[in-house]
Amino acid sequence: MTENTQRLQKLITLSKERGLKLTPQRMVIFTILSEANQHITVDEVYQRAKQEYPMLSLATVYRNMEQMVESDLLKHLDLGGTSMRYDTNLGKHHHFVCTKCGKVSDVYIDDIQYKVDTKRSHLDKAKINSLDLHLQGTCSDCS
Ligand SMILES: [Zn+2]
Ligand SMILES: [Zn+2]
Repeated sequence: MTENTQRLQKLITLSKERGLKLTPQRMVIFTILSEANQHITVDEVYQRAKQEYPMLSLATVYRNMEQMVESDLLKHLDLGGTSMRYDTNLGKHHHFVCTKCGKVSDVYIDDIQYKVDTKRSHLDKAKINSLDLHLQGTCSDCS
């Protein structure tokens, strides 16, 4: 079984567990997500999906992907660009963005120990649960 088939199988299994119906449209989206770049925009999914399903609208693709986020099959990835990306990697990780070619890579950091200056940050009684790092630079292809 190839890596793509494994990813597709995982999406199908997860959606069954979460009670999402396997509609033909959803299967097309699942297939695209398992074959494509891991950090894809809804527009990229739509452009590929309509080659197979010309009747499919951008709104339908968007709605399906949002349902997947609600059911924890996908995560939103907001890197501050113009379009929201989606991430199929559900594990804890951070991101590196190449400022030249725009490539997004996953970054794994095992042990981060930050000391937040809660007074200066006006976070006196806040409890911090997560941290998302967004690193920027030039990737190995560009530098
Ligand atoms: Zn690059
Ligand atoms: Zn990621």
